[in-house]
Amino acid sequence: MRSVEVLVVGAGASGMMAGIMAARGGRRVLLVEKKERPGKKLLATGNGRCNYTNQRQEPWCYRSQSPERAWEILQSFDPERTVAWFREIGILPGNRQGYLYPASFQAASLLRALEREMDRLGVALHREESVERIERRRNFKGTWEEGYVVVTDRGKYLAEKVIVSTGGMASPAHGSTGDGYGFLEQFSLEMVPLHPALCSLVTEKAIAKRWAGNRVQGKVSLMAEGTLLAQDRGEIQLVSQGISGIPVFQVSRYAASALAEGRRVTLCLDSMPDWDGEKLLAELKRRIRWNGSQSAGDLLEGMLPDRLSGVLIRGSGLSCSDRAEEISEDGLERLAGRIKNYEMDILGVAGFEKAQTTAGGISLSEVDPGTMEVVKAPGIYLTGELLDVDGICGGYNLQWAWTTGYLAGRGAAGASGHN
Ligand SMILES: Cc1cc2nc3c(=O)[nH]c(=O)nc-3n(C[C@H](O)[C@H](O)[C@H](O)COP(=O)(O)OP(=O)(O)OC[C@H]3O[C@@H](n4cnc5c(N)ncnc54)[C@H](O)[C@@H]3O)c2cc1C
Repeated sequence: MRSVEVLVVGAGASGMMAGIMAARGGRRVLLVEKKERPGKKLLATGNGRCNYTNQRQEPWCYRSQSPERAWEILQSFDPERTVAWFREIGILPGNRQGYLYPASFQAASLLRALEREMDRLGVALHREESVERIERRRNFKGTWEEGYVVVTDRGKYLAEKVIVSTGGMASPAHGSTGDGYGFLEQFSLEMVPLHPALCSLVTEKAIAKRWAGNRVQGKVSLMAEGTLLAQDRGEIQLVSQGISGIPVFQVSRYAASALAEGRRVTLCLDSMPDWDGEKLLAELKRRIRWNGSQSAGDLLEGMLPDRLSGVLIRGSGLSCSDRAEEISEDGLERLAGRIKNYEMDILGVAGFEKAQTTAGGISLSEVDPGTMEVVKAPGIYLTGELLDVDGICGGYNLQWAWTTGYLAGRGAAGASGHN
């Protein structure tokens, strides 16, 4: 059995950061990665550009059942320190309205910088090796000893410290298939239920088929049985399974958990959020005065994209071919109402395959916030998406990965806290 000082399971964003920090702390480090290369998911982030953090930081950007603890942890290694850290290894920030990317706008350059740093520090990396179990060490008298035996599909390692950086369940094609939850079950850690987050929502097929391919600058409000759960606005994409785009991603984790609780979930789409209802109705009337012989479909042309208009017109009990001047006052009011508030049932969320992150995970109450060490299992450290924190879209999930990887690496090397 080979022995190592620090074994990191998973060479994703947080695992590489943890490995580097443990090596900088003078430890011999081995990273074990089941995929053929490290950082596969990192290459897909930010549409291949890697939005690695965000200048705007507020507690609500991170969702967790322990929000104060999440925020406290993030203060130890915030975006400013993250940017300085990456700058040191060669990555200058490219700033798009506070959203930070490598200045090359290429995720590959950030990954290569991490790989070069691991090489410089002599961090060993085993690819295509999958960790199957982590066992506590017992001596011949049957009593527990420090350290853990890490069993992989290729062999066994004796590790003084183990950092579990296996990610959550989102986007399993990139390697994160929830293995870490399995390894850790033996320690009876509190688990917050897992749900896909940052994903599209499924609506009735008939609506989705009609509007697929359109986009609108709108606002979405997610409700469960009349209670507002979350709201967001921006570019909304109308797709063949339902509704997508960043505003929908932002509210999706609440839809997933409400649906799992068996609640009826609806989404209200405001397709013209900058217009109030009265102004909108007056504009529709003006258009009819200008040309009463146009169709209901023509009436919305230049205001909204065509397929969405069709759905809204039908949703108001009208037909696209109705003559505009023949639409009743009531009908017009209904149409303006649907433009401002089109309510649809949400039947599901896109699932972990298409999600960008995982809501829920191992409770933050189980780790020391200065080192990410598991209180019930000294010598085991947890990082990243495995834990009960999911950030909103915009660099927050990677920030969580960097911060927790940084703390865990330092913790495993014997340092802790803010220095
Ligand atoms: C398409 C997409 C785009 C995204 N874009 C952004 C973005 O722009 N900004 C942002 O902040 N966030 C983004 N995210 C989210 C972000 O990438 C993740 O939250 C982050 O990578 C999580 O880091 P992690 O280290 O916890 O896990 P991961 O990066 O998922 O890494 C886990 C690693 O562990 C390995 N592993 C798992 N099980 C085992 C095992 N048994 N043995 C060995 N190895 C194992 C996996 O192969 C993987 O390499 C995006 C996600 C996706 C899917």
